[in-house]
Amino acid sequence: MEYAYDDQNIFAKILRGEIPNKTVYENEYALAFEDITPQAPVHVLVIPKGPYMSLDHFARDASVEEHSGFMQAVAEVCRLTGVEEGFRAIANTRAHGVQEVPHYHMHILGGRPMGRMLAR
Ligand code: AMP
Repeated sequence: MEYAYDDQNIFAKILRGEIPNKTVYENEYALAFEDITPQAPVHVLVIPKGPYMSLDHFARDASVEEHSGFMQAVAEVCRLTGVEEGFRAIANTRAHGVQEVPHYHMHILGGRPMGRMLAR
């Protein structure tokens, strides 16, 4: 699989500071910010700072430090947003996953019951 990262995607522009965002948490390897079109009371996107287009790209090529930093950001988002009663993590990937922005992002959705995982 060839992963061709497009650095003109909107999250790359957010990482370069060209577009504003509502930051929830940031560390050396990851940024977490509020989704601009929230689907739940808590809807945060966690993205790596490195140029990875998808979950599988990140899983294959990111360093141990990048993996650790990303998951630390996920933990902090869960703590800061207070989703003790649960949440859903989603990583839409390419065409079948209906991924709109080609920079890996994990949606953290919560603050209400999220329903079944998929509509039948
Ligand atoms: P998807 O790629 O299908 O996982 O969805 C991309 C998500 O990015 C959608 O939930 C959008 O609402 C969100 N989004 C798009 N542009 C922005 C932005 N500038 N700031 C925050 N969230 C955004």
